[in-house]
Amino acid sequence: MGNPKAFLTVPRKEAGYRPVHDRIHDFGEVEQTLNTRDRQEQASRCMDCGVPFCHWACPLGNKDPEWNDALYRGEWETAYKILKKTNDFPEFTGRICPALCEKSCVLYLTTGEAVTNRENECAIAERAFLEGYVTIEHPVRNGKKVAIIGAGPAGLAAANQLNHKGYEVTVFDRNEAAGGLLRYGIPNFKLNKPIIDRRISVMEQEGVTFVYGKHLHVEALAADTTHAAEAEQMKAALGTPDAIVIATGTPTARDLNIPGRELKGIHLALELLSQQNRVLAGAEYSKEERITAKGKKVLVIGGGDTGSDCIGTAHRQGATSVTQIEIMPQPPVGHNPATPWPHWPAILKTTSSHQEGCERRWNINTLEFLGKEGQVTGVRVQPIDWKPNPAGGRPIMVEAGEPETVEADLVLLAMGFLHPQHPPFPCNVFVAGDAANGASLVVRAIASGRSVAEAVDAFLHP
Ligand SMILES: Cc1cc2nc3c(=O)[nH]c(=O)nc-3n(C[C@H](O)[C@H](O)[C@H](O)COP(=O)(O)OP(=O)(O)OC[C@H]3O[C@@H](n4cnc5c(N)ncnc54)[C@H](O)[C@@H]3O)c2cc1C
Ligand code: SF4
Repeated sequence: MGNPKAFLTVPRKEAGYRPVHDRIHDFGEVEQTLNTRDRQEQASRCMDCGVPFCHWACPLGNKDPEWNDALYRGEWETAYKILKKTNDFPEFTGRICPALCEKSCVLYLTTGEAVTNRENECAIAERAFLEGYVTIEHPVRNGKKVAIIGAGPAGLAAANQLNHKGYEVTVFDRNEAAGGLLRYGIPNFKLNKPIIDRRISVMEQEGVTFVYGKHLHVEALAADTTHAAEAEQMKAALGTPDAIVIATGTPTARDLNIPGRELKGIHLALELLSQQNRVLAGAEYSKEERITAKGKKVLVIGGGDTGSDCIGTAHRQGATSVTQIEIMPQPPVGHNPATPWPHWPAILKTTSSHQEGCERRWNINTLEFLGKEGQVTGVRVQPIDWKPNPAGGRPIMVEAGEPETVEADLVLLAMGFLHPQHPPFPCNVFVAGDAANGASLVVRAIASGRSVAEAVDAFLHP
């Protein structure tokens, strides 16, 4: 702890976003960076608490107090070495982690101004690439092979860990490039894709093999598979690995099967987001295939982060208006007594995309899609309220006011994902990330990939 009193004298300072009028015209990252002096000063605010709750709250167990101290002292390489011991990809989490650690930071709990751990993490990772602390390692091979299906953060973390332990690792993905939702879900304005390419290049140079465009039927790996033909295809594709890791994410988005769902102009959020990211990577779509908000009134159904990503994308595509509706009530601002620490605070979140302009409405149920000549023109909605359930459990939804129509010619459904179901697999097949735990966070996917890598290593004990 370099400066024991910094937390009393140095206020939290965030790098902030590029100005709205500038950023909505492009898909570049919206977050800015602090200069070196300010960054180190922010790190000095970490009090190196006797029991660091931040370290406990981070699913990776990142040692924030230790790397904050090294950062404060200007020992960037040491800071990176500490960080990389627990986090394979700090350049991803440093950009898009909701920073579970910061909501457990003692400074947050006492003053509301956490140490800027996430931004500090990103700064350390970027400096490491810039100054060459990210070196190429050549692990000694142990003669065993592992196949990984899915190149999202969980599969990548498992691959990275197993490769460094000496396994010969091949990662298969149905997409044309690695990253999973990092590449084909999260918009470029939150995570620029060359950041992923840079890491994949390191992993390739260290010996990980990537095979793209392979959609594998993972059910065929089941212990009692009835998919004999697919099982044969799987064998042909994977070869004879000693273990297999399934890290295929949550493929099924929750749909809204109400009258009018067949109308044109209604899309699952990922249809828009993945296509936009592909367009930015150079893909071309016909006019019929292309989903765009240009000149349209956009309605986003679902008040979470995926919905927020749709809002930012719609702004950049040139929407004339954007509305977001959510069936649950508006969370409190700032503090929620119903979710005291150590719970994640259920408080109102205003993202950079919300700041760019958007009407947000809560307690709204969706009744039917309205259309003209096969094209959606609006959504009939019902304002509602939630009453406590006398029998306990989920509150009861009651009508509150008259149904109304929200005009829209592009509707985006951002209502989460179904929990994946898997058959029992043989003992050398492991499941990681969202495929194992349901839709979650990048930091949890990385943590899961790392722990599955440990389980594979213990199983194969070379
Ligand atoms: C729009 C959106 C925004 C998000 N924003 C954030 C955020 O800001 N911060 C955050 O922490 N989390 C965010 N998340 C959640 C986060 O992206 C996921 O929790 C995380 O990516 C899960 O990682 P994963 O590796 O388990 O799965 P995924 O990232 O889904 O990767 C799975 C991979 O498996 C491949 N695959 C699937 N099936 C097959 C098959 N049969 N054969 C071959 N390959 C297959 C897919 O192509 C994909 O590459 C967001 C999610 C979405 C949808
Ligand atoms: S990965 Fe997320 S929770 Fe962990 S230290 Fe970084 S910002 Fe905090």
